[in-house]
Amino acid sequence: MQVAKIHVLPAPTYFLRALPFRVSKEPIAEFDCKLREAILLRCNLSAPLPPTASTFLSQPVGNGGIGLRELGMVAPAAKWASAASVAQDTLPFFEQNPTLPFVLDREDAFDELVAGGVTTAGPDIDCYTQIEVSDEEKKAFGPYADPRLRFLPHEPDLVATFYDGKKQLKSLQRMLSRVLLHHAADTFLDSADCSPADKIRISACRAKESGLWLQLHPKVEPLSDAQFRIALRLRLGLPPMPFDLPAKCPLCLKTTGDPWHPFACSATRRRMVTTSHDNVMSTVVRFARDCGAQARLEPKDLGSLVPDGEFFLSTGAVLVDASGVSSLAPSHLKGRKVPGRALASRARYKHNKYNGHADSLNSRFVPLVLDRFGCFHKEFSAFLKELDTEAKQLGLGTLSPTRLDLPTTLLKLSNGWQADGARIVYQWLTMVRMHQHRAAVHRLGYIM
Ligand SMILES: [Zn+2]
Repeated sequence: MQVAKIHVLPAPTYFLRALPFRVSKEPIAEFDCKLREAILLRCNLSAPLPPTASTFLSQPVGNGGIGLRELGMVAPAAKWASAASVAQDTLPFFEQNPTLPFVLDREDAFDELVAGGVTTAGPDIDCYTQIEVSDEEKKAFGPYADPRLRFLPHEPDLVATFYDGKKQLKSLQRMLSRVLLHHAADTFLDSADCSPADKIRISACRAKESGLWLQLHPKVEPLSDAQFRIALRLRLGLPPMPFDLPAKCPLCLKTTGDPWHPFACSATRRRMVTTSHDNVMSTVVRFARDCGAQARLEPKDLGSLVPDGEFFLSTGAVLVDASGVSSLAPSHLKGRKVPGRALASRARYKHNKYNGHADSLNSRFVPLVLDRFGCFHKEFSAFLKELDTEAKQLGLGTLSPTRLDLPTTLLKLSNGWQADGARIVYQWLTMVRMHQHRAAVHRLGYIM
Protein backbone atom coordinates (compact mmCIF):
# COMPACT_ATOMS: atom_id res chain seq x y z
CA MET A 1 0.00 0.00 0.00
CA GLN A 2 2.85 2.37 0.93
CA VAL A 3 4.72 1.42 -2.26
CA ALA A 4 1.61 2.23 -4.31
CA LYS A 5 1.12 5.59 -2.58
CA ILE A 6 4.73 6.75 -2.68
CA HIS A 7 6.20 5.17 -5.81
CA VAL A 8 3.36 4.27 -8.18
CA LEU A 9 0.85 7.13 -7.97
CA PRO A 10 3.02 10.28 -8.53
CA ALA A 11 3.97 9.60 -12.18
CA PRO A 12 0.40 9.13 -13.49
CA THR A 13 -0.61 12.19 -11.42
CA TYR A 14 1.92 14.16 -13.46
CA PHE A 15 0.41 12.80 -16.71
CA LEU A 16 -3.03 13.93 -15.54
CA ARG A 17 -1.70 17.49 -15.41
CA ALA A 18 0.44 17.39 -18.55
CA LEU A 19 -1.64 15.43 -21.07
CA PRO A 20 -4.95 16.48 -22.64
CA PHE A 21 -8.02 14.99 -21.01
CA ARG A 22 -9.02 13.06 -24.13
CA VAL A 23 -5.63 11.29 -24.14
CA SER A 24 -5.25 10.60 -20.42
CA LYS A 25 -8.79 9.53 -19.46
CA GLU A 26 -8.85 5.99 -20.80
CA PRO A 27 -5.34 4.88 -19.75
CA ILE A 28 -5.88 6.39 -16.29
CA ALA A 29 -9.12 4.43 -15.85
CA GLU A 30 -7.24 1.27 -16.84
CA PHE A 31 -4.38 2.16 -14.48
CA ASP A 32 -6.83 2.65 -11.57
CA CYS A 33 -8.43 -0.69 -12.32
CA LYS A 34 -5.09 -2.57 -12.52
CA LEU A 35 -3.71 -0.96 -9.33
CA ARG A 36 -6.88 -1.77 -7.41
CA GLU A 37 -6.77 -5.37 -8.64
CA ALA A 38 -3.14 -5.69 -7.50
CA ILE A 39 -3.89 -4.25 -4.05
CA LEU A 40 -6.97 -6.43 -3.59
CA LEU A 41 -4.97 -9.51 -4.57
CA ARG A 42 -2.15 -8.61 -2.16
CA CYS A 43 -4.64 -8.01 0.66
CA ASN A 44 -6.56 -11.20 -0.10
CA LEU A 45 -9.77 -9.30 -0.86
CA SER A 46 -12.09 -10.48 -3.59
CA ALA A 47 -13.69 -8.10 -6.08
CA PRO A 48 -16.25 -6.70 -6.41
CA LEU A 49 -16.15 -5.02 -3.03
CA PRO A 50 -19.43 -3.88 -1.47
CA PRO A 51 -20.14 -0.13 -1.97
CA THR A 52 -18.94 0.90 1.50
CA ALA A 53 -15.56 -0.83 1.10
CA SER A 54 -15.18 0.24 -2.52
CA THR A 55 -15.87 3.92 -1.66
CA PHE A 56 -13.58 4.07 1.36
CA LEU A 57 -10.66 2.19 -0.20
CA SER A 58 -9.99 5.33 -2.27
CA GLN A 59 -10.94 7.90 0.38
CA PRO A 60 -8.14 9.77 2.20
CA VAL A 61 -7.10 8.25 5.54
CA GLY A 62 -8.26 11.43 7.33
CA ASN A 63 -11.74 10.92 5.89
CA GLY A 64 -12.03 7.34 7.15
CA GLY A 65 -10.53 5.62 4.11
CA ILE A 66 -7.39 3.71 3.20
CA GLY A 67 -5.87 6.46 1.03
CA LEU A 68 -5.50 4.52 -2.23
CA ARG A 69 -6.30 7.45 -4.52
CA GLU A 70 -8.41 6.73 -7.59
CA LEU A 71 -6.80 8.97 -10.20
CA GLY A 72 -9.87 9.05 -12.45
CA MET A 73 -11.74 10.71 -9.59
CA VAL A 74 -9.22 13.50 -9.05
CA ALA A 75 -8.35 13.95 -12.74
CA PRO A 76 -10.45 17.14 -13.23
CA ALA A 77 -8.74 18.75 -10.21
CA ALA A 78 -5.31 18.03 -11.70
CA LYS A 79 -6.34 19.28 -15.13
CA TRP A 80 -7.89 22.47 -13.77
CA ALA A 81 -4.89 23.21 -11.53
CA SER A 82 -2.54 22.79 -14.47
CA ALA A 83 -4.78 25.03 -16.64
CA ALA A 84 -4.77 27.68 -13.88
CA SER A 85 -0.98 27.68 -13.64
CA VAL A 86 -0.57 28.47 -17.37
CA ALA A 87 -3.70 30.60 -17.79
CA GLN A 88 -1.78 33.91 -17.96
CA ASP A 89 0.66 32.58 -20.57
CA THR A 90 -2.09 31.11 -22.75
CA LEU A 91 -4.37 34.16 -22.52
CA PRO A 92 -3.32 35.64 -25.93
CA PHE A 93 -4.03 32.30 -27.68
CA PHE A 94 -7.42 32.08 -25.99
CA GLU A 95 -8.28 35.62 -27.09
CA GLN A 96 -7.43 34.74 -30.71
CA ASN A 97 -9.35 31.45 -30.69
CA PRO A 98 -11.57 30.46 -27.73
CA THR A 99 -12.19 26.96 -29.15
CA LEU A 100 -8.60 25.70 -28.99
CA PRO A 101 -8.28 22.13 -27.54
CA PHE A 102 -6.70 23.31 -24.29
CA VAL A 103 -9.65 25.68 -23.73
CA LEU A 104 -12.18 22.90 -24.35
CA ASP A 105 -10.15 20.70 -22.03
CA ARG A 106 -10.30 23.12 -19.10
CA GLU A 107 -14.02 23.65 -19.73
CA ASP A 108 -14.51 19.87 -19.45
CA ALA A 109 -12.49 19.88 -16.23
CA PHE A 110 -14.60 22.78 -14.88
CA ASP A 111 -17.87 20.97 -15.69
CA GLU A 112 -16.64 17.76 -14.07
CA LEU A 113 -15.53 19.63 -10.96
CA VAL A 114 -18.95 21.28 -10.62
CA ALA A 115 -20.67 17.91 -11.18
CA GLY A 116 -18.34 16.43 -8.53
CA GLY A 117 -19.52 18.87 -5.87
CA VAL A 118 -17.16 21.87 -6.21
CA THR A 119 -18.93 25.19 -5.61
CA THR A 120 -18.45 28.21 -7.85
CA ALA A 121 -17.86 31.63 -6.33
CA GLY A 122 -20.60 34.22 -6.94
CA PRO A 123 -20.57 36.41 -10.10
CA ASP A 124 -19.39 39.38 -7.99
CA ILE A 125 -16.17 37.58 -6.97
CA ASP A 126 -13.39 38.42 -9.43
CA CYS A 127 -10.52 36.86 -7.51
CA TYR A 128 -10.29 34.02 -4.98
CA THR A 129 -8.71 36.39 -2.44
CA GLN A 130 -12.10 38.15 -2.10
CA ILE A 131 -13.67 34.96 -0.70
CA GLU A 132 -14.17 35.21 3.05
CA VAL A 133 -13.36 32.25 5.29
CA SER A 134 -13.68 32.06 9.04
CA ASP A 135 -10.72 31.67 11.41
CA GLU A 136 -12.03 28.20 12.37
CA GLU A 137 -11.91 27.11 8.73
CA LYS A 138 -8.36 28.44 8.33
CA LYS A 139 -7.31 26.58 11.47
CA ALA A 140 -9.03 23.36 10.35
CA PHE A 141 -7.17 23.30 7.02
CA GLY A 142 -3.77 24.05 8.55
CA PRO A 143 -0.98 26.37 7.44
CA TYR A 144 -0.25 24.67 4.09
CA ALA A 145 -3.72 24.76 2.56
CA ASP A 146 -5.81 27.74 1.50
CA PRO A 147 -9.55 27.03 2.04
CA ARG A 148 -10.46 29.79 -0.45
CA LEU A 149 -9.13 27.53 -3.23
CA ARG A 150 -12.06 25.15 -2.68
CA PHE A 151 -14.11 27.50 -4.86
CA LEU A 152 -14.04 27.87 -8.65
CA PRO A 153 -14.55 31.07 -10.63
CA HIS A 154 -18.08 31.75 -11.79
CA GLU A 155 -17.15 30.72 -15.34
CA PRO A 156 -14.22 28.67 -16.70
CA ASP A 157 -12.99 31.54 -18.93
CA LEU A 158 -12.19 33.58 -15.80
CA VAL A 159 -9.37 31.18 -14.93
CA ALA A 160 -6.70 33.68 -16.03
CA THR A 161 -7.85 36.40 -13.63
CA PHE A 162 -9.45 34.44 -10.77
CA TYR A 163 -6.10 33.28 -9.37
CA ASP A 164 -4.61 36.78 -9.26
CA GLY A 165 -2.10 35.96 -12.01
CA LYS A 166 -0.33 33.46 -9.72
CA LYS A 167 1.37 30.63 -11.58
CA GLN A 168 2.01 28.52 -8.51
CA LEU A 169 -0.93 27.77 -6.26
CA LYS A 170 0.45 24.91 -4.24
CA SER A 171 -2.74 23.73 -2.62
CA LEU A 172 -5.18 24.27 -5.54
CA GLN A 173 -5.11 20.68 -6.84
CA ARG A 174 -5.16 19.30 -3.29
CA MET A 175 -8.11 21.43 -2.20
CA LEU A 176 -10.20 20.59 -5.29
CA SER A 177 -9.33 16.87 -5.02
CA ARG A 178 -10.36 17.03 -1.38
CA VAL A 179 -13.78 18.47 -2.29
CA LEU A 180 -14.31 15.78 -4.97
CA LEU A 181 -13.36 12.94 -2.59
CA HIS A 182 -15.38 14.28 0.33
CA HIS A 183 -18.38 14.80 -1.94
CA ALA A 184 -18.15 11.15 -3.07
CA ALA A 185 -18.01 10.03 0.59
CA ASP A 186 -20.95 12.25 1.57
CA THR A 187 -22.96 10.94 -1.41
CA PHE A 188 -22.38 7.39 -0.12
CA LEU A 189 -23.30 8.38 3.45
CA ASP A 190 -26.63 9.80 2.19
CA SER A 191 -27.36 6.79 -0.03
CA ALA A 192 -29.51 3.73 0.67
CA ASP A 193 -26.33 1.60 0.54
CA CYS A 194 -25.10 3.17 3.80
CA SER A 195 -26.29 1.35 6.93
CA PRO A 196 -26.30 2.83 10.46
CA ALA A 197 -23.36 0.51 11.23
CA ASP A 198 -21.45 2.01 8.26
CA LYS A 199 -22.06 5.50 9.65
CA ILE A 200 -20.75 4.51 13.09
CA ARG A 201 -17.69 2.84 11.55
CA ILE A 202 -16.86 5.71 9.19
CA SER A 203 -17.24 8.30 11.94
CA ALA A 204 -14.80 6.33 14.15
CA CYS A 205 -12.36 5.83 11.26
CA ARG A 206 -12.35 9.58 10.56
CA ALA A 207 -10.74 10.22 13.95
CA LYS A 208 -7.08 11.12 13.38
CA GLU A 209 -5.60 8.44 15.61
CA SER A 210 -7.65 5.54 14.19
CA GLY A 211 -5.83 5.61 10.82
CA LEU A 212 -2.28 5.95 12.17
CA TRP A 213 -1.54 2.24 11.71
CA LEU A 214 -1.60 2.87 7.95
CA GLN A 215 1.66 4.88 8.32
CA LEU A 216 5.15 3.43 8.65
CA HIS A 217 7.41 4.68 11.42
CA PRO A 218 11.01 3.62 12.13
CA LYS A 219 10.37 3.33 15.88
CA VAL A 220 7.16 1.30 15.66
CA GLU A 221 6.99 -2.31 14.55
CA PRO A 222 4.77 -2.60 11.44
CA LEU A 223 1.81 -4.96 11.34
CA SER A 224 2.37 -8.39 9.84
CA ASP A 225 0.57 -9.18 6.57
CA ALA A 226 -2.10 -11.20 8.40
CA GLN A 227 -2.65 -8.43 10.97
CA PHE A 228 -2.75 -5.77 8.25
CA ARG A 229 -5.40 -7.71 6.31
CA ILE A 230 -7.66 -8.03 9.36
CA ALA A 231 -7.20 -4.35 10.28
CA LEU A 232 -7.96 -3.39 6.66
CA ARG A 233 -11.11 -5.52 6.61
CA LEU A 234 -12.28 -3.96 9.88
CA ARG A 235 -11.75 -0.42 8.54
CA LEU A 236 -13.52 -1.23 5.26
CA GLY A 237 -16.57 -2.76 6.97
CA LEU A 238 -15.83 -6.30 5.77
CA PRO A 239 -15.91 -9.48 7.90
CA PRO A 240 -12.53 -10.51 9.40
CA MET A 241 -11.94 -13.56 7.17
CA PRO A 242 -12.61 -14.37 3.51
CA PHE A 243 -14.82 -17.23 4.78
CA ASP A 244 -17.93 -16.96 7.01
CA LEU A 245 -17.53 -17.53 10.74
CA PRO A 246 -20.15 -19.87 12.29
CA ALA A 247 -23.51 -18.09 12.76
CA LYS A 248 -23.77 -19.54 16.28
CA CYS A 249 -20.62 -19.13 18.33
CA PRO A 250 -19.50 -22.61 19.46
CA LEU A 251 -17.77 -21.08 22.49
CA CYS A 252 -20.41 -18.83 24.10
CA LEU A 253 -23.33 -20.40 22.18
CA LYS A 254 -24.72 -17.00 21.17
CA THR A 255 -26.22 -16.31 17.75
CA THR A 256 -25.41 -12.65 17.35
CA GLY A 257 -25.18 -12.06 13.58
CA ASP A 258 -22.10 -9.95 14.34
CA PRO A 259 -19.28 -10.82 11.89
CA TRP A 260 -16.78 -9.40 14.42
CA HIS A 261 -18.15 -11.51 17.29
CA PRO A 262 -14.58 -12.56 18.41
CA PHE A 263 -14.17 -9.03 19.85
CA ALA A 264 -17.29 -9.38 22.00
CA CYS A 265 -17.18 -13.13 22.76
CA SER A 266 -17.01 -14.03 26.45
CA ALA A 267 -14.45 -16.74 25.57
CA THR A 268 -11.80 -14.22 24.48
CA ARG A 269 -12.65 -11.64 27.16
CA ARG A 270 -10.28 -12.89 29.86
CA ARG A 271 -7.61 -13.84 27.32
CA MET A 272 -6.42 -11.78 24.35
CA VAL A 273 -8.94 -8.98 24.99
CA THR A 274 -7.47 -8.47 28.48
CA THR A 275 -3.95 -8.67 27.04
CA SER A 276 -4.78 -5.93 24.51
CA HIS A 277 -6.01 -3.66 27.36
CA ASP A 278 -2.82 -4.43 29.32
CA ASN A 279 -0.75 -3.49 26.28
CA VAL A 280 -2.53 -0.12 26.03
CA MET A 281 -1.87 0.50 29.72
CA SER A 282 1.81 -0.40 29.49
CA THR A 283 2.32 1.97 26.53
CA VAL A 284 0.56 4.81 28.40
CA VAL A 285 2.63 4.10 31.56
CA ARG A 286 5.87 4.18 29.54
CA PHE A 287 4.86 7.43 27.86
CA ALA A 288 3.92 8.97 31.22
CA ARG A 289 7.29 8.03 32.71
CA ASP A 290 9.06 9.47 29.66
CA CYS A 291 7.06 12.66 30.29
CA GLY A 292 8.45 12.91 33.82
CA ALA A 293 5.32 11.64 35.61
CA GLN A 294 5.26 8.85 38.18
CA ALA A 295 3.12 5.99 36.97
CA ARG A 296 2.30 2.50 38.16
CA LEU A 297 -0.05 -0.31 37.24
CA GLU A 298 -2.37 -1.68 39.90
CA PRO A 299 -1.79 -5.35 40.77
CA LYS A 300 -4.44 -7.62 39.25
CA ASP A 301 -5.24 -9.39 42.54
CA LEU A 302 -7.74 -6.68 43.41
CA GLY A 303 -9.78 -7.61 40.33
CA SER A 304 -11.84 -4.76 38.91
CA LEU A 305 -12.44 -3.07 42.25
CA VAL A 306 -9.71 -0.55 41.56
CA PRO A 307 -8.81 1.07 38.23
CA ASP A 308 -5.85 -0.12 36.12
CA GLY A 309 -3.25 2.50 37.01
CA GLU A 310 -2.18 5.44 39.12
CA PHE A 311 -0.39 8.48 37.70
CA PHE A 312 1.19 11.34 39.62
CA LEU A 313 1.61 14.57 37.69
CA SER A 314 2.70 17.94 39.01
CA THR A 315 -0.95 18.99 38.73
CA GLY A 316 -2.33 16.10 40.82
CA ALA A 317 -2.96 12.38 41.09
CA VAL A 318 -4.94 10.64 38.35
CA LEU A 319 -6.47 7.16 38.37
CA VAL A 320 -7.07 5.61 34.96
CA ASP A 321 -8.75 2.53 33.54
CA ALA A 322 -8.31 1.25 29.98
CA SER A 323 -11.28 -0.14 28.14
CA GLY A 324 -12.03 -1.24 24.58
CA VAL A 325 -15.49 -1.01 23.04
CA SER A 326 -16.88 -3.01 20.11
CA SER A 327 -19.20 -0.26 18.95
CA LEU A 328 -20.82 -2.47 16.30
CA ALA A 329 -21.63 -5.31 18.74
CA PRO A 330 -25.39 -6.04 18.73
CA SER A 331 -25.69 -4.73 22.31
CA HIS A 332 -24.54 -1.28 21.17
CA LEU A 333 -26.66 -1.34 18.00
CA LYS A 334 -29.85 -2.05 19.96
CA GLY A 335 -30.52 1.53 21.04
CA ARG A 336 -30.03 4.79 19.17
CA LYS A 337 -27.46 4.16 16.47
CA VAL A 338 -25.47 7.35 16.91
CA PRO A 339 -21.75 7.52 16.06
CA GLY A 340 -19.60 7.84 19.20
CA ARG A 341 -22.41 6.73 21.54
CA ALA A 342 -20.70 3.48 22.58
CA LEU A 343 -17.49 5.31 23.51
CA ALA A 344 -19.39 7.92 25.53
CA SER A 345 -21.53 5.37 27.36
CA ARG A 346 -18.47 3.25 28.31
CA ALA A 347 -16.67 6.34 29.61
CA ARG A 348 -19.76 7.27 31.65
CA TYR A 349 -19.98 3.73 33.04
CA LYS A 350 -16.33 3.87 34.13
CA HIS A 351 -16.83 7.28 35.74
CA ASN A 352 -19.79 5.95 37.72
CA LYS A 353 -17.74 2.97 38.80
CA TYR A 354 -14.51 4.69 39.84
CA ASN A 355 -15.27 8.36 40.60
CA GLY A 356 -16.10 7.63 44.24
CA HIS A 357 -12.89 5.63 44.69
CA ALA A 358 -10.85 8.43 43.10
CA ASP A 359 -12.55 11.06 45.31
CA SER A 360 -11.70 9.08 48.43
CA LEU A 361 -8.02 9.16 47.40
CA ASN A 362 -8.14 12.87 46.57
CA SER A 363 -7.49 11.98 42.91
CA ARG A 364 -9.35 12.41 39.66
CA PHE A 365 -10.45 9.56 37.43
CA VAL A 366 -9.83 9.42 33.66
CA PRO A 367 -11.29 6.59 31.52
CA LEU A 368 -8.97 5.52 28.69
CA VAL A 369 -11.64 4.26 26.30
CA LEU A 370 -11.11 3.42 22.64
CA ASP A 371 -13.21 1.53 20.14
CA ARG A 372 -12.11 -1.38 17.99
CA PHE A 373 -11.44 0.96 15.05
CA GLY A 374 -8.85 2.74 17.20
CA CYS A 375 -10.87 5.92 17.83
CA PHE A 376 -10.11 7.41 21.27
CA HIS A 377 -12.67 8.86 23.61
CA LYS A 378 -11.96 12.58 24.04
CA GLU A 379 -10.81 12.12 27.68
CA PHE A 380 -8.15 9.61 26.56
CA SER A 381 -6.75 12.06 23.96
CA ALA A 382 -6.86 14.92 26.50
CA PHE A 383 -4.96 12.84 29.09
CA LEU A 384 -2.15 12.04 26.62
CA LYS A 385 -1.93 15.74 25.70
CA GLU A 386 -1.79 16.60 29.40
CA LEU A 387 1.20 14.26 29.83
CA ASP A 388 2.85 15.81 26.77
CA THR A 389 2.35 19.30 28.21
CA GLU A 390 3.96 18.13 31.47
CA ALA A 391 7.00 16.89 29.47
CA LYS A 392 7.25 20.18 27.56
CA GLN A 393 7.13 22.18 30.79
CA LEU A 394 10.00 20.08 32.11
CA GLY A 395 11.92 20.54 28.85
CA LEU A 396 12.14 16.77 28.25
CA GLY A 397 11.40 16.98 24.54
CA THR A 398 14.92 16.67 23.15
CA LEU A 399 16.74 14.89 25.98
CA SER A 400 16.90 11.42 24.47
CA PRO A 401 16.21 10.03 21.00
CA THR A 402 14.71 6.89 22.59
CA ARG A 403 12.18 8.93 24.58
CA LEU A 404 8.60 8.10 23.63
CA ASP A 405 7.04 11.35 22.39
CA LEU A 406 3.33 11.95 21.78
CA PRO A 407 3.21 11.24 17.99
CA THR A 408 5.18 7.99 18.43
CA THR A 409 3.00 6.98 21.37
CA LEU A 410 -0.16 7.51 19.33
CA LEU A 411 1.29 5.47 16.47
CA LYS A 412 2.41 2.73 18.86
CA LEU A 413 -1.05 2.59 20.44
CA SER A 414 -2.73 2.51 17.00
CA ASN A 415 -0.47 -0.24 15.64
CA GLY A 416 -0.57 -2.26 18.84
CA TRP A 417 -4.34 -2.03 19.06
CA GLN A 418 -4.85 -3.30 15.48
CA ALA A 419 -2.23 -6.04 15.92
CA ASP A 420 -3.99 -7.18 19.12
CA GLY A 421 -7.36 -7.00 17.34
CA ALA A 422 -6.04 -9.48 14.77
CA ARG A 423 -4.65 -11.65 17.59
CA ILE A 424 -8.11 -11.73 19.22
CA VAL A 425 -9.65 -12.97 15.95
CA TYR A 426 -6.94 -15.63 15.57
CA GLN A 427 -7.24 -16.72 19.20
CA TRP A 428 -11.00 -17.07 18.80
CA LEU A 429 -10.54 -19.16 15.64
CA THR A 430 -7.97 -21.38 17.36
CA MET A 431 -10.30 -21.93 20.32
CA VAL A 432 -13.18 -22.77 17.96
CA ARG A 433 -10.98 -25.33 16.15
CA MET A 434 -10.02 -26.86 19.50
CA HIS A 435 -13.66 -26.94 20.61
CA GLN A 436 -14.74 -28.64 17.36
CA HIS A 437 -11.92 -31.17 17.69
CA ARG A 438 -12.92 -31.99 21.28
CA ALA A 439 -16.58 -32.33 20.28
CA ALA A 440 -15.58 -34.77 17.53
CA VAL A 441 -13.47 -36.79 19.97
CA HIS A 442 -16.40 -36.95 22.40
CA ARG A 443 -18.70 -38.11 19.63
CA LEU A 444 -16.31 -40.90 18.80
CA GLY A 445 -16.32 -41.97 22.45
CA TYR A 446 -12.73 -41.18 23.41
CA ILE A 447 -12.09 -40.09 26.96
CA MET A 448 -10.70 -36.57 27.22
ZN1 LIG B 1 -18.85 -16.26 21.43
